[in-house]
Amino acid sequence: MNARMTPHDAAPPDAGAPVETDIAIIGSGFAGLGMAIRLRQAGITDFIIAEKADSVGGTWRDNHYPGCACDVQSHVYSFSFAPNPRWTRMFACQPEIRAYLEDCTQRFGVQRHLRFAHELASAVYDDTRHRWQLTFANGQQWSARVLISGMGGLSRAAMPNIPGIETFRGKSFHSQHWDHGCPLDGKRVAVIGTGASAIQFVPQIAPRVAHLDLFQRTPPWIMPKADRPVTPLEQWLFRHLPFTQKIMRSALYCMLESRAFGFAIHPSLMKTAQKVAERHLRRQVPDPQLRATLTPDYTMGCKRILISNDYFPAVSRPNVSVTTTGIARIEEDAVVTTDGVRHPVDCLIFGTGFQVADPFPAGVVRGRGGVDIVDTWRDGAHAYLGTTLPGYPNFFMIVGPNTGLGHNSMVFMIESQVEYILRALKMMQAERTAAIEVRPQVEHSYNEQIQQKLSRAIWSTGGCKSWYLDPKTGKNTTLWPGFAYKFRRATRTFSMADYLAYSPVPQPGAQPGTQPLTQVHDSAAATSAQTS
Ligand code: NAP
Repeated sequence: MNARMTPHDAAPPDAGAPVETDIAIIGSGFAGLGMAIRLRQAGITDFIIAEKADSVGGTWRDNHYPGCACDVQSHVYSFSFAPNPRWTRMFACQPEIRAYLEDCTQRFGVQRHLRFAHELASAVYDDTRHRWQLTFANGQQWSARVLISGMGGLSRAAMPNIPGIETFRGKSFHSQHWDHGCPLDGKRVAVIGTGASAIQFVPQIAPRVAHLDLFQRTPPWIMPKADRPVTPLEQWLFRHLPFTQKIMRSALYCMLESRAFGFAIHPSLMKTAQKVAERHLRRQVPDPQLRATLTPDYTMGCKRILISNDYFPAVSRPNVSVTTTGIARIEEDAVVTTDGVRHPVDCLIFGTGFQVADPFPAGVVRGRGGVDIVDTWRDGAHAYLGTTLPGYPNFFMIVGPNTGLGHNSMVFMIESQVEYILRALKMMQAERTAAIEVRPQVEHSYNEQIQQKLSRAIWSTGGCKSWYLDPKTGKNTTLWPGFAYKFRRATRTFSMADYLAYSPVPQPGAQPGTQPLTQVHDSAAATSAQTS
């Protein structure tokens, strides 16, 4: 069965009064599904997943541009508890990753928890009932004790603020909303942006179009991509001797993890990698002028390091021109650069990335006293272990602030957070705690330390501007500053001492869930949970 076909498999539509659930999960990408699977494996089944679309997959459902693939090896960019012996390439393409997530949905019985076409409009913490009141764009309302966000950091497309953009008469779309019906063959196409997405789709469309104008603001550092098909023998081994795939996964993990030395420990180590990238460019781009155009002027690693074997050959084609002059405006049939040159265009594609600095739109998540998370994060997003936030009881984020990685698999980080949340929920259950809220001082000193480390790291000192940094404050609010295993270690234990804990005050005759809460005394809370 295909998870795309499952909206009607899920429990019957909820009607009338707000749906009561113990746990609400928002989103069904790697984060939401990973959480759901681990909850079920732990015997916790009172949860529902709200998914805005009509199928699972998150970023791997939304991004389907030509050439879309993962730039982290699939054996490590997948759940540790759901190895896939059938990966066809070292770096799987988007359809295969999406199919993997659909398969996990079925295999682990998650589909009955899914509610499709549920786009979160608002989540408000009700101080009286101590529950999250959720409203969805379709009018549905839920009430949940625990709210878990698996909404992802790269889900809202960023459109550039270019004068005249609305006057363009041809077809235009963002890479995340690829219009496969838009005929590109023989057309004059402009692409704005040269990031991770653009370098994947430019080689796919360049041979088809009459002319491709590529507008580059900052060239990326690009390394060779060590991609190859997974051989039938390897697939056989992975299927019949699963430990062989575990070895492969561990080896890839260690190889990727070693890259953190250059990112966070000693940026000078990046020089060796930079030499490899420079040689890659020299080999693939014979024209010295184009080579100069494609050579970054910042230290490698400051922006995300990209991998590709076909981008440089594509931009070297005679029908492709790379323009570095700034864009002044867009007219109904052209892009006009600041030197006054008109670049006539039939189709305009934005490879301009995502709104990362503000993960939640204004008004959507409101904690104690109705405080909007956007206001709490006015000076940049922050959270304890990227997961919990003072003023937002029983709210957990997966892929929250400072959990991103530039060097290893995000699925490793997601699983670390999922296990941490699971431990928190189990401990709350064991101690009959109705609500927890991270202590402000704990969260504050954690973030001070993180920001101290980040201010010395290559992302802030490498001489570039990137989406890792909050545009308002310059603070790096997206990345974890170092080895991924250190995040795993930090999240391995859930310590109730880091949290304010609240329990119901027993009241004769009161319905469960309606009693007032009182803060549990510190000594009772000073326990910690660790699972293997
Ligand atoms: P991105 O890396 O943020 O790249 C956006 C590009 O658009 C940059 O070249 C940027 O230039 C340019 N740009 C933005 N606004 C512009 C403007 N107003 N005028 C001119 N140029 C403008 O976005 P992305 O390529 O979509 O990738 C985003 C992230 O998604 C990646 O970093 C990665 O984490 C993830 N991703 C992952 C994979 C994967 O394989 N795992 C694949 C695709 C994407 P500047 O550099 O000058 O800002």
